[in-house]
Formats: sequence, structure tokens, C-alpha cells
Amino acid sequence: MSIPKKNNDMRCFHLFPAVFLIAILKGCLYNQIMHELSVTESILSIVIKHAEKNHVEKVVTIHLKIGELTDLVDEYIQHYFDYLSMGTIAEGAVLNMERSPVVFQCTDCKTTFQVSLKGSGKIVCSQCGGAKVAIVSGREFHIKHIEVI
Ligand SMILES: [Zn+2]
Repeated sequence: MSIPKKNNDMRCFHLFPAVFLIAILKGCLYNQIMHELSVTESILSIVIKHAEKNHVEKVVTIHLKIGELTDLVDEYIQHYFDYLSMGTIAEGAVLNMERSPVVFQCTDCKTTFQVSLKGSGKIVCSQCGGAKVAIVSGREFHIKHIEVI
């Protein structure tokens, strides 16, 4: 009687970290999906509001500008948009996503410079090597314009 009980205890002990890890991964995925979904809902509601105000028949293309620092995935946004826009004047519209570069400004010499996301380590001024820098762009998310008929 005591041996099976021991085995059960062992199995529980080994399973716990795996279950915990799956829970964390599921949580991350869920947050990522919710992020794109809520952004897409905002895009759609803004586009429809402007389209209706201007009495357009159909929205054809939506041009977006997305900073490289945002973690938004283009494919997810288009996918959610296709789904959410069904039955609206924006149904079938193509999202054109332009990525804007990450730009910093040195607080000492005021030089602005682009930073590659592939680069590693500390961000320093390209002109004076100063370490006091502020982000200028790269986190923005705009609807640039929409094409309609
Ligand atoms: Zn500088």
C-alpha cells in the first residue's frame, strides 16, 4: 500500500514544474493575442468613424505607421482585422504597415541618431558617446491615412 502512494507523490512532484511552465506560456500567449486584438479593435473603430463621417462606400487600404519597438505582429493585426471588420464598410481592407525606426536623442549634445534593434548593449550617443539619451520615436502607432471608394 505504501509503494503506490510514494509513486504518486513522486509523479506529482515531477509534474508540478511542467504544469507551472505551461501555465506561464499560456499566459504570455494570451496577453500577446489580447494586445493585438485590442489594437485592431481601436484601428477598426477609428477607421469606421472617419469613413462614416465622410460618407464613403468602402475602405480599401489602411496605412499604419508602427514603431519598431512595439511588439505588434503584422500578421496577427491583419488576421484580427479581417475577422472584426466582417459586415462593416472596412471589410476586406488591406492593412499597409510601415515600420518606423528607433531614434534617440542625446540630452548633452542634442544629436539624434537611429538605433538598430540588432545591436546589443548600452545605447550611447553616436556623436559624443554620452550615455544620457531619450527616445524620440520607435514606440508610436498611427493610422497615417486610409484609401476609400
Ligand atoms: Zn551626444
